[in-house]
Amino acid sequence: MAHDVDGTLDPAGRIDALRAEIRRHNRSYYELDAPTIPDADYDLLLRELQELEALHPDLVTPDSPTRQVGAPVSTQFAAVTHAVRMMSLDNAMDHDELRGWGERTARRLGTLGLDGSVRYVCELKIDGLAMSLRYEAGRLVQAATRGDGRTGEDVTANVATIDVIPKQLGPDAPEVLEVRGEVYLPIEAFRRLQERTIADNEAADAAGRRGRPVPVNPRNAGAGSLRQKDPAVTASRGLAFWCYQLGEVRGADAPPTHSRTLEWLGGLGFPVNPETRLLDSLADVYEFCGHWTEHRHDLPYEIDGVVVKVDDLAVQAALGATTKAPRWAIAYKLPPEERTTLLRDIQVSIGRTGKATPFAVLEPVFVGGSTVGLATLHNEDQVRAKDVRPGDTVVVRKAGDVIPEVVGPVLELRPAGLAEWEFPTSCPSCGSPLVRAEGEAQTRCTNPDCPQRRLARITHFGSRGAMDIDGLGEQQVQLFIELGLLADVADVYDLDFDRIRELPRYGATSVANLRRAIEASKERPLARLLFGLNIVHLGPAGAEALVAGFGGLDALMGASVDDIAAVDGVGPVIAASVHEFFSDPRNRALVDRLVAAGVNTAGPERSVLAQTLTGRAVVVTGSVPGFTREEAESAIKARGGRSPGSVSKKTYAVVVGAEPGASKVTKAESLGVPTIDAASFGQLLETGDLPDTSRSDDAAGATAAQEEAP
Ligand code: NAD
Repeated sequence: MAHDVDGTLDPAGRIDALRAEIRRHNRSYYELDAPTIPDADYDLLLRELQELEALHPDLVTPDSPTRQVGAPVSTQFAAVTHAVRMMSLDNAMDHDELRGWGERTARRLGTLGLDGSVRYVCELKIDGLAMSLRYEAGRLVQAATRGDGRTGEDVTANVATIDVIPKQLGPDAPEVLEVRGEVYLPIEAFRRLQERTIADNEAADAAGRRGRPVPVNPRNAGAGSLRQKDPAVTASRGLAFWCYQLGEVRGADAPPTHSRTLEWLGGLGFPVNPETRLLDSLADVYEFCGHWTEHRHDLPYEIDGVVVKVDDLAVQAALGATTKAPRWAIAYKLPPEERTTLLRDIQVSIGRTGKATPFAVLEPVFVGGSTVGLATLHNEDQVRAKDVRPGDTVVVRKAGDVIPEVVGPVLELRPAGLAEWEFPTSCPSCGSPLVRAEGEAQTRCTNPDCPQRRLARITHFGSRGAMDIDGLGEQQVQLFIELGLLADVADVYDLDFDRIRELPRYGATSVANLRRAIEASKERPLARLLFGLNIVHLGPAGAEALVAGFGGLDALMGASVDDIAAVDGVGPVIAASVHEFFSDPRNRALVDRLVAAGVNTAGPERSVLAQTLTGRAVVVTGSVPGFTREEAESAIKARGGRSPGSVSKKTYAVVVGAEPGASKVTKAESLGVPTIDAASFGQLLETGDLPDTSRSDDAAGATAAQEEAP
């Protein structure tokens, strides 16, 4: 809260400042479709203003943003006066606030002499742009934005390009019908728009022209797509619509409840969101909200909450509205996925192959369901493109399982004279030069003995995807390095367990477990060993390909770079890197020590099985009795086939086990790829033939015909 110069609270000053700031954000958000702060930060400002006004009612003015819907309309479009006002919604930030709304509603109904037990309709709160569609004699005659609730903008020509919005209703349409709903940009259309903008910008850059800002989220991109001067631009964006309310109706008896209204609208041809539910109690409403808090990312469009509405329209009318929002509805807000915070510093971490990755050190902030203090910035070019500088206030985004991302700086909050960040020229761990090779995005520490690199290398060697040594995580590796017990990956097989037993945190059992885990790691397949060696560019798939190509470690170590590049699935970059690795005497010595320790250096037995699936791709989905996922894939590979993770036109067959992935099965069906059940898997392995019960030849013919069609 603001203080006077003498330190006393100055609510009037703070209220003025908040109103000015909120109006500025309203303009950026509603008029320019380009907000400068995340919604959650805006909501906090509005909340603070609401609370201050509640404490100081004498300071409330009718033009306060707490009393007004949206923002006045721009002059870009003609003004439309709404026959029935379009309102905002009050928010509940958590279950307590939702319960508070439920109790207020029941109390108010009690004082009106009405029954307080109501039914609720729960709808998803679509993160888009409110729209009012007006139909006269069944024909779409006008589409208008919400504007300030009384006056909106005429965007009829643009809305007419949205496929799912009916332009002409059937013969039973009322004389006048106003339908309200949300225009939104589906996530897929948003991604396409992002990609197109990046490609256009590259072309513009090459031609010496300035590009356009890359859209950062579907809501603003959707609003911007709709409020275009040229409807052809709107048409190209793929906007969609869900309806959720009536405005003016003449010449028909509208249904008595909200749920029946939605059914009626659906019958008239309007898209009604299929997740809408009619619920009997607030307990059910909590459950609905909880479900969508967890599953919001399963949807192909973005939502920012759940809207809870009283179902009975007579009860709605009795409850009425405040100046800004109806009392019969509340928006339960989902936890925010974007917040602002201070970027304290940008530091660089050194990975196992020497890669220097810049990362943001943030003032910890709760976003997307967890507290975020660090976020990767990927590489030098990314930092430059985002122009984030230590000392900036930055927007941090964390959506679902996606790793946290720094979206960009809030430029209006940048302190004067803040210096641009420079990529360090020397390694923060060992002081060696950091080098960025011509044409590469990555900068690397060149010192093979760099301590941070050594820690990352040994930790990787023991990790799940490599030698899988339980009890040898980063902390233990760090400790053993500090004690001089580990200097490279071969030392793992020469650990001084007597010394470890003396350490405070190690008992006899944990030492025995570690010993056993290290012994067991010697049996890991050769591909895991290769992956564990920290060869630049070599991932698990490349390691598998090398084993398939050479059969054993000796053959690989003796191979020329051309021999390596000739292996299926190994490109020239990996081949050069692998060859360089094994040409270095230090690495050869390291491998010799690993071999002497007894690690497995042989590939799987060359197959004596009939090669029934040579060159064929068989995808397995769901569980197949008698096989783990890996065993099913190995069985296919042992017969000369491949087992990719996704279905394509070239897939020979999809084996559908118990609880299969729906998308794989649907894809197979849509591409006409044969599907076989788990019981037929054995026959497929043995003969390579498909059982008669798989896809018919007709379907195959249809697919071939489709592929040939222009
Ligand atoms: P609101 O978005 O919280 O609620 C009202 C709106 O919800 C309706 O107008 C409608 O468009 C929408 N909605 C979506 N699904 C709905 C459904 N099923 N039923 C009914 N309505 C549904 O309130 P508001 O007044 O439109 O605007 C506030 C929102 O805009 C907040 O999320 C706020 O953070 C954001 N905002 C952000 C900035 C910024 O600078 N970041 C500035 C202004 C507003």
